[in-house]
Amino acid sequence: MFGSARAGVHHDLPNSLGAFAQRTNALLGEVDSIARERTLLNFYAAFAPPDETANAVACMSGASVAHLKLRLGILTSRFRANHPLKACPQCMEQDLRETGWAYWHLKHQFPGVWMCTAHQQPLLQSALKANGVERFQWLLPRLNDLHSASTKYPEAASCSVLLSLAVLIEHLVQSGAFEPLLLRGLHEVYREEFRARGWVAGAASLRTGQIAAAFLSYCEPLRCIPEFASLAQDEEGMATQLGRLLRHPRSGTHPLRHLLLIHWLFGTAQRFELAMKSKGAYTQSTVPNTVLPRFAAIDPRMDHLHRLIQEEGQSVRKAASLVGVDPQPALIWAAKAGIEISRRPQKLSTNVRARAIRELRKGADKEQVASRAGVANSDGRLVRLWLKRARIRCID
Ligand SMILES: [Zn+2]
Repeated sequence: MFGSARAGVHHDLPNSLGAFAQRTNALLGEVDSIARERTLLNFYAAFAPPDETANAVACMSGASVAHLKLRLGILTSRFRANHPLKACPQCMEQDLRETGWAYWHLKHQFPGVWMCTAHQQPLLQSALKANGVERFQWLLPRLNDLHSASTKYPEAASCSVLLSLAVLIEHLVQSGAFEPLLLRGLHEVYREEFRARGWVAGAASLRTGQIAAAFLSYCEPLRCIPEFASLAQDEEGMATQLGRLLRHPRSGTHPLRHLLLIHWLFGTAQRFELAMKSKGAYTQSTVPNTVLPRFAAIDPRMDHLHRLIQEEGQSVRKAASLVGVDPQPALIWAAKAGIEISRRPQKLSTNVRARAIRELRKGADKEQVASRAGVANSDGRLVRLWLKRARIRCID
């Protein structure tokens, strides 16, 4: 469905959606809507500038999502970047009854969501996929694979904070799909609320110590969930974390940091949205994400080009002419998809290649085969390609 054996296996931000949309005849939508509405990009896009989201869609359309987590601020956030799969046992029961099988609900997967808002009960977390176990498998939720997410049974206070946080996140992600929350607007609204609480000294200086102390006590009931373990434990640490967040607004901050601040300061999405509106802080953009212009990434020729380069080992120039595009855009497409373009000529005679494949099939050492064929050992890509041609499974 995704064009190659290990494509599309990421459970959070999958790749090769271009091939998927083509092969499913767009039954589940085109690349753009699949990426934005059916993957975790749904969550991140609610807080990212439109061009960042467009770039993410382009990456997910192609083969490489390697740098996506870095760009979206997930890797550098100190929050875990692996997005454990989560499910609600009551939803599973209901889904089984109503559709015949249990499935993963997208809104349960959002970072910061640890309660099912429909059944008001804690979500269970899967031990698979996120930590590498069975990461190439296709999985549906099964009770046997799921366990409680919290280190101890969450107390009533934790449950109620987590539930209200989940309600707020679901709401903001949904409204963010039409109008992403941008940093500048957020900062103005925070500042206004700090001022109302007497936490702004003089003209503009924030009383960071007081703010940190109050935020720390808000965080206390959340700490039973490992996802929140990276929140600072003491006033000093918290003042540093908050200071960074409040003083130097920059893109790439994990949305969860803002969601916690919003939840702490405003309690509900409705109160927060009111504050945003009264500040006129919403972006002026009236173009919802869903009708942004289509990107070249969706061009079906791109997928064909990827396959020619990556699977058949064609040069970009040759692949471009086969697909019918000029070499220059082809280079850009390849770069966008994260395909490394080797500058070194890799023309090998058919004989040399055939002999190499024969040797590999017999079980010869990869490095020796590569050196006999006159290919630098470092060029693992070519050897992997031969292995693939020879239908030899490579363990590494
Ligand atoms: Zn549920």
